[in-house]
Amino acid sequence: MLNFTMNENQRMIADMIRDFGAKEITPFRKEWDDNQHFPLELFKKLGELGLMGVLVPTEYGGSGFTYFEYVTAIAELSKLDPSVGLSMAAHNSLCTGHIMQFGNEEQKKKYLPKLATCEWLGAWGLTEPNTGSDAGNMRTVAKKEGEYYIINGAKNFITHGVSGDVAVVIARTGEVGDSHGMTAFVVEKGTPGFRGGRKEDKLGMRASETAEMIFEDCKVHESQVLGEVGDGFIQSMKILDGGRISIAALSLGIAQGALEASIQYSQERQQFNQPISRFQGISF
Ligand SMILES: Cc1cc2nc3c(=O)[nH]c(=O)nc-3n(C[C@H](O)[C@H](O)[C@H](O)COP(=O)(O)OP(=O)(O)OC[C@H]3O[C@@H](n4cnc5c(N)ncnc54)[C@H](O)[C@@H]3O)c2cc1C
Repeated sequence: MLNFTMNENQRMIADMIRDFGAKEITPFRKEWDDNQHFPLELFKKLGELGLMGVLVPTEYGGSGFTYFEYVTAIAELSKLDPSVGLSMAAHNSLCTGHIMQFGNEEQKKKYLPKLATCEWLGAWGLTEPNTGSDAGNMRTVAKKEGEYYIINGAKNFITHGVSGDVAVVIARTGEVGDSHGMTAFVVEKGTPGFRGGRKEDKLGMRASETAEMIFEDCKVHESQVLGEVGDGFIQSMKILDGGRISIAALSLGIAQGALEASIQYSQERQQFNQPISRFQGISF
């Protein structure tokens, strides 16, 4: 039988986020959303709390928790502001998760400690304008030249496409339609030929940055390949399996947040000389 009771770590994380969020998120969330402001400094603070490397083993500077603690953290943040939950989840599950699962020891030692503290913010680029669900049809190409790959193309809808310090990017190294024809690379901000592009003007979760990533003759050393050449698509599908758990936690947090806010409102709002919560249709 499934046990839905929170363990001690989950309770500790939920309490910590409630206290932290009351000071650092709730007072600012409307302004961030109105102005579509991505609050980078907030994520540095979440890094100090251990929430930007929740699943990263402690030997790489992370919190070393399990998915139970991770979904609690996403749901609690999303209760307060789904934009924050989304950005935290994308950083943890996608960029950090990909390096953690498929990086070699040298790559893990180089990137995970900085990602876990959010000294570096992570981005993950699979989606392209014409290849969303059909990601295997991607057009971004990485062409081998000696010890280097030259990446050309554009990714869109990328969380932290502009502000990310390090990106995992999946590019075509083989034929279109071949699920073994794509490879994952780690690309650092400042690499010539790599830049962020247009930021989306979204209807919701406006404080989470969603933007293009553009590659123009971007030269990346072969040591930046994650795992084996040709495994990028299969790796990405595995990463998205974990990402789906995050999206479920995010949705749960939004639903809980909306329920709590509506209960509170129904107890404050008076009609016919009593709180509307007393009426049968609401009944709290
Ligand atoms: C806020 C936000 C953040 C994101 N962050 C990232 C990120 O960090 N990195 C990244 O790589 N991507 C990111 N994405 C992109 C996201 O992964 C894509 O939006 C997603 O893959 C869907 O692609 P699409 O939007 O092109 O929709 P489409 O693929 O065009 O799908 C449109 C509709 O058709 C349906 N559909 C498509 N194919 C089928 C099928 N075979 N059978 C039945 N129905 C189908 C879909 O379910 C959907 O309803 C983000 C998107 C958003 C909105």
